[in-house]
Amino acid sequence: MSSARVYLFDSTLRDGAQTHGVDFSAPDKAAIAQALDTLGIDYIEGGWPGANPTDDAFFADPPALARGRLCAFGMTRRSGRSADNDPGLRALQQAEAPVAVLVGKSWDFQCQVALGVEPDENVRMIADSIAFMAREKAEAMYDAEHFFDGYKANPAYATDCVKAALDAGARWAVLCDTNGGTLPHEVEEIVSALVAAGIPGDHLGIHCHNDTENAVANSLAAVRAGVRQVQGTLNGLGERCGNANLVSLIPSLVLKMGLDVGLSGDQLTKLTETSRALDERLNRAPNTRAPYVGASAFAHKGGLHVSAVEKDPRCYEHIDPALVGNRRQILVSDQAGRSNVLARLRDIGLEVDPDEPKVARVVEEVKLREFKGYAYDGAGASFALLARRLLHRVPEYFRLTSFRVIDERRWNAKGELITLSEATIKADIGREHHMAVAEGNGPVNALDAALRKVLVPAYPRLAGLRLVDYKVRILTPEAATAAVTRVMIESADSTGERWTTVGVSPNVIDASYNALHDSITYALFNAGVAPVDAATAAAE
Ligand SMILES: [Zn+2]
Repeated sequence: MSSARVYLFDSTLRDGAQTHGVDFSAPDKAAIAQALDTLGIDYIEGGWPGANPTDDAFFADPPALARGRLCAFGMTRRSGRSADNDPGLRALQQAEAPVAVLVGKSWDFQCQVALGVEPDENVRMIADSIAFMAREKAEAMYDAEHFFDGYKANPAYATDCVKAALDAGARWAVLCDTNGGTLPHEVEEIVSALVAAGIPGDHLGIHCHNDTENAVANSLAAVRAGVRQVQGTLNGLGERCGNANLVSLIPSLVLKMGLDVGLSGDQLTKLTETSRALDERLNRAPNTRAPYVGASAFAHKGGLHVSAVEKDPRCYEHIDPALVGNRRQILVSDQAGRSNVLARLRDIGLEVDPDEPKVARVVEEVKLREFKGYAYDGAGASFALLARRLLHRVPEYFRLTSFRVIDERRWNAKGELITLSEATIKADIGREHHMAVAEGNGPVNALDAALRKVLVPAYPRLAGLRLVDYKVRILTPEAATAAVTRVMIESADSTGERWTTVGVSPNVIDASYNALHDSITYALFNAGVAPVDAATAAAE
């Protein structure tokens, strides 16, 4: 295999924009193009000028790119028109982009059925259109639509289409698996045959769809057979099952196949953040199981695996996660052995003697509580408090002696239906008894407000405490004798630090209070705040 440079081509803004539920605005497109440029992508396909107002707006004011070349997409000329008289080609020629990508047929059956054009005329359409764009633009490319299906049906004709484009001056002819039904061994065979027939691989590209979940594998097979341009989209965006995922392809090309794709090591470490930023923009949760960049890609849960990873990460990791900007995660779980808990203890800065009997108590307590429905994987602050309580001591900053919450739904004076909650709490801080009443838009909000009335004068630091996320999950009875509710609360303080706590109870308010109590205790303990009256500060 030649080790010539492999070029990367991103189609997130063109093919990826066809994804069900994705609707990019022109500013979205500009921001994504810039992120792709920062990542080090060679070709960035912006869209189809003349096809819709968003793409027209994007090309009317294209983003400044440092290195990436902006590509505009269009079709070969219509049958019976000259290239410079074709309205589609004109729109493309006028678009502010140095590269024109022209899609055209390469399957004789498609020419006759879909286009109603004789195969010979299709070849002339490809040659004329490419020759026109090669004159007008810095680069012209031919997307050979349905290339693999066409090649299987009529290899000579599909090859003629590719040759016509390259002879007319196309920098690249891109072999498209448009329907996504081709398998890796077929791609490798067909591309090898094409290269053997004299078509140079360093003028061939590959464009795969994921309909058999082989888009990445097919792209790698094509590279093995000699193609030197690889197309895909961020996170595999694209219609139906998506396009080849560049986020998986890039590290495989670089780290597994040792190929130069023009990215520096620094740029490769931007992969995880680039992938997650796209999800952020699309307002979707990132796929935790995404290869290379997912939150679970380097997460270890099984006890044996964790102890081996602690000795040498290569035991259960195929690459160093830092190379792609991801990180290792050690999860605490019901399956956890001692080594998980020991690793988590080190994570929170507790150096312990593994043989100390108290460590066994932490392991047992974590297992028992997870059986009851607690989840410490996502609640690091509650884990830290639990471990410190069992191993050392955590001060009791306050003691809630009782709380009562009343919910009321009624019509207000304006005739609107409102729901109000009112919480009454009694709490001891040091030797002093306090009582407070507060309203909220829900029971947890009211409870939180009443607690603050009592706690903030004693602990001013809590004034900056905010609840940023609140999740409730009803657990099925398998975890306990009756259905229980698990509440996870994410909190933040004025420094921007965030932490998550967990509470479990058959009663949702009680579960919420447990998580809230941990959150407040963690905020104070983590900041090194001393309890108001040390005399009452005993370990729980
Ligand atoms: Zn496509």
